[in-house]
Amino acid sequence: MAERTRCVVVGGGPGGVVLAHLLARGGVEVVLLESRGDFDRRFRGDTIAPPVLDYLDLLGLADPLLDATPHVRGNAFVWRTPDATWTLADYRNASRKYPYYALVPQAVFLPFLVEQARRYPGLTVRMGARVSDLVRADDGRVTGVVYTQDGERRTVLADLVVGADGRTSKVRQLAGVAATELGASIDIAWFAVPRRDSDPVTSGLEARAEPGQLLAVLGQGTDWQLGFALPAGTFGAFKAAGVEPLRAVLRRLVPWLGDRIDLLADVNQLTLLPVRITTVDAWSRPGLLLIGDAAHVISPVGGNGINYAIVDAAEAANRLVGPLRSTPVGPGAVDAATAAVERARRPSVEREQRGQVRIERETARALRDRDPRPALALRLIASIPGFPRLVGTLASRSLAVPRPVPAILTGPAHERAEPLHRARLTAAAATRHLHGGAVRGRGRDAGI
Ligand SMILES: Cc1cc2nc3c(=O)[nH]c(=O)nc-3n(C[C@H](O)[C@H](O)[C@H](O)COP(=O)(O)OP(=O)(O)OC[C@H]3O[C@@H](n4cnc5c(N)ncnc54)[C@H](O)[C@@H]3O)c2cc1C
Repeated sequence: MAERTRCVVVGGGPGGVVLAHLLARGGVEVVLLESRGDFDRRFRGDTIAPPVLDYLDLLGLADPLLDATPHVRGNAFVWRTPDATWTLADYRNASRKYPYYALVPQAVFLPFLVEQARRYPGLTVRMGARVSDLVRADDGRVTGVVYTQDGERRTVLADLVVGADGRTSKVRQLAGVAATELGASIDIAWFAVPRRDSDPVTSGLEARAEPGQLLAVLGQGTDWQLGFALPAGTFGAFKAAGVEPLRAVLRRLVPWLGDRIDLLADVNQLTLLPVRITTVDAWSRPGLLLIGDAAHVISPVGGNGINYAIVDAAEAANRLVGPLRSTPVGPGAVDAATAAVERARRPSVEREQRGQVRIERETARALRDRDPRPALALRLIASIPGFPRLVGTLASRSLAVPRPVPAILTGPAHERAEPLHRARLTAAAATRHLHGGAVRGRGRDAGI
């Protein structure tokens, strides 16, 4: 017989995990299905924005996560050429308590939130569970999903199915929701090298450029994450040129990496991220909601893919916790809530995407024209005292993070006693899992 629950969330990325966590905390029975067997993922959006940290703090989660996780605090986005430096956005006024982006690997963040949510009786997490089909009622309403786990096909029926399964969302395809690409001008090829204590202090969020080359240098936990920007569709030629031209770029742009540059021994060590900006026709259908990259792909250029996914989850949880807790669940109330999620979130997402399309085109043009400077508008911003701080503050505000509703803020009654202590323990456990035993202490403040 098919299993039954209130909400099934497909996809254990930041959007799905945060939503499952919040619904369980709010007292809703929820099943999370993740196709992979673990949360170990590299080269993903790891940049948690100041207002999202404030949001996690309201839930008692931010300090335990940051205290136990090696991370970098990027307080500004800085663009460097061999001759000049521009601070394009400064986040030091973006939050009183967390005036920086915390670069926390998803491989730590996701298991931490799952472990935290396991304390709530309503959460079931199934790893290695790949969704292949939707279940529908006679009137077309989505009423569940079919998934395969351990070679066995299973069905879970639910009052709501949430597709949080990323940019190539299977749920979105099965629901017949069309996606439109708004921008595809650049790709990024990622590579990582270990950090050393003797490395220079950077802002943690840097672009380093020379004519025809743009390198993202992100301080991430125990590594530097390096991203070569290239015009879209040129990765084949990029790889065919071999590793030596890339090493030469690294020697010029980040010479202090020294012998670690030789760790790039083969072009196949690079991970390609085709940078896409995608919008979809509708985020909801009767019985179904899409969030995160499944609903809108945000370019990694602003480092906000993870943040938009988390804020979608926060907005969805606020609006769904009431309808999904009532007995019986009213399909009309659920559908009204999912439509409201889209109305609340779409304007902020579309504003961000419009800006990103412009930045991407400018970046592709600059690569072609061999102009290493940021776009003229960005240079102007950087030159006016106070403007980078204004930009950093406004950009953070535009994420539009909602305050948790009381049912989520307070959590179940039995959990109010000792939540912080347990949160610290699970963050430490997630970090040990990632780094093979050693917890390497608190974050490093980056400097501009
Ligand atoms: C390769 C790559 C590199 C990236 N690099 C950056 C970056 O450097 N900076 C940045 O800001 N952003 C980056 N992003 C984007 C950022 O990671 C995403 O915006 C963010 O993770 C979105 O979260 P999400 O929960 O919506 O989706 P995702 O994080 O994509 O999570 C979706 C989850 O759904 C699971 N899933 C997929 N199909 C199924 C299925 N059929 N059944 C069950 N589960 C399924 C997947 O395994 C995955 O765990 C990158 C994305 C990718 C794909």
